[in-house]
Amino acid sequence: MSAAIRRSVTVVGAGLAGPLIAVLLARRGVSVVLLERRGDPRADRADGGRSINLALSARGIRALERAGVFADVAPLLLPMRGRMLHAPSGESTLQSYGQRPEEVNFSIGRGALNRVLLGAAERAGVLLRFNQRCLGLDPRTHALSCVDERTGEPSVLDGETLIAADGAGSAVRSSLVEAGVCAVRIEPLGHDYKEMTLPAGPAGRHVLDPGALHIWPRGGFMLIALPNPGGTFTLTLFLPRVGPVSFAALSEEQALHRFFAEQFPDLESYHEALCADYRRNPQGQLATVHARGWHLGGRALLLGDAAHAIVPFHGQGMNAAFEDCSRLDEMLERGGDWAALFEQFELDRRPDTEAIARMALENYEEMRERVRDVRFTRLQQLAFELERRFPQRFIPRYSMVTFHPQIPYREALRRGELQAAILEQLDRERLADGGIDYALVAALVQERLPALEERDLDSRTG
Ligand SMILES: Cc1cc2nc3c(=O)[nH]c(=O)nc-3n(C[C@H](O)[C@H](O)[C@H](O)COP(=O)(O)OP(=O)(O)OC[C@H]3O[C@@H](n4cnc5c(N)ncnc54)[C@H](O)[C@@H]3O)c2cc1C
Repeated sequence: MSAAIRRSVTVVGAGLAGPLIAVLLARRGVSVVLLERRGDPRADRADGGRSINLALSARGIRALERAGVFADVAPLLLPMRGRMLHAPSGESTLQSYGQRPEEVNFSIGRGALNRVLLGAAERAGVLLRFNQRCLGLDPRTHALSCVDERTGEPSVLDGETLIAADGAGSAVRSSLVEAGVCAVRIEPLGHDYKEMTLPAGPAGRHVLDPGALHIWPRGGFMLIALPNPGGTFTLTLFLPRVGPVSFAALSEEQALHRFFAEQFPDLESYHEALCADYRRNPQGQLATVHARGWHLGGRALLLGDAAHAIVPFHGQGMNAAFEDCSRLDEMLERGGDWAALFEQFELDRRPDTEAIARMALENYEEMRERVRDVRFTRLQQLAFELERRFPQRFIPRYSMVTFHPQIPYREALRRGELQAAILEQLDRERLADGGIDYALVAALVQERLPALEERDLDSRTG
């Protein structure tokens, strides 16, 4: 690392990306202060005892390995090999994510992951300061205003360089927008979410298969479940905010019970517990943040959700935020000054985060609607067949995004579109002629899909 960047850095936000970038910087000899508006979650349970989980996959794992923290995270992981679809009839079907044993997603508790990352940051020499809410950055003086959440005492920090990992509602991003440095467009989804807990069965056993991500796809909305250690599942209901079937339509107790009974009859024994959770827990909003101008010269950089929050349907928001951290660290290794580095970071990274933002939106329709369609299963099986026959050239899009961290998101999107056209064509021809001529397919694949490099083919999750 060049002398120009061996200085002190303030990181705002000790969620997921904040502590990870803090560890990576500290390992390079940078002196790091990490500010967080909440209390220390290792001391007080800020989540009020709720268990909220996330899907971690290869991109996130690679970044955790780079920071030397994956060994501490690994014991927290529960592998999920595919999607278990629950029909209204109660019937369930597994659709696997990939076709190799290592092609799995992992469920991990957000709180547990956060605590591991904070411990790693502390051990790496990062100075952690909790209950410090950042109010904004003065773009002229570069002073960072904060307030102590417990005492109300204001403070001003003159950190040399600031990295803002303060999430989708970033206060630092608002300062950059006010200063005309950053342009932001927030695209609301119009569908909100609510988390509930499916209790453990007798002797702490999971009442559904813990090796899958469960989906109750219902067309205009869906319920999903990810396993937790200890036998519970975290359920998340994604539903339009308003309309005939919506959160607004479930405000009456009777309507809520009727909704659960009609839509999720297989969860009947848990309806009371789920309805109680539904009433107790907050209704979260979802949006895509499209921002340009992630940095203020070499003084400040937006990272993770602060720069590019996405909807959660590809399970990639945290993975992309972690990938930001490893990309920035790779660039630091090559040297340069902060200004050049931050500029290059946005140039390199934004096309990828825009691509995953789009794929995440597309995946909502896939999860709540298309997975139920026989055509979807037919095309997925065909995609696996093409991957087996042409492993150098054809990798299903979901697999590129989730299991192949060497393939940039933008490339997964681009190749995914070419592949979708091939799949559509083959499916049409198969339906018309009753079969597929794989000699012709080989020519088609060779013509349209350049061979991937050996390093891109290594599918792995840990
Ligand atoms: C319902 C849901 C499900 C999801 N599921 C997945 C999934 O399965 N897989 C996946 O990869 N991603 C998932 N995501 C996305 C993932 O949660 C985010 O992409 C990830 O948390 C981004 O990390 P971050 O560090 O950038 O922001 P955050 O994790 O939001 O952290 C921001 C931190 O900054 C702090 N902060 C905020 N404002 C201030 C301030 N003014 N001053 C000081 N501190 C501040 C916050 O308290 C917080 O600790 C999901 C998101 C949602 C909403």
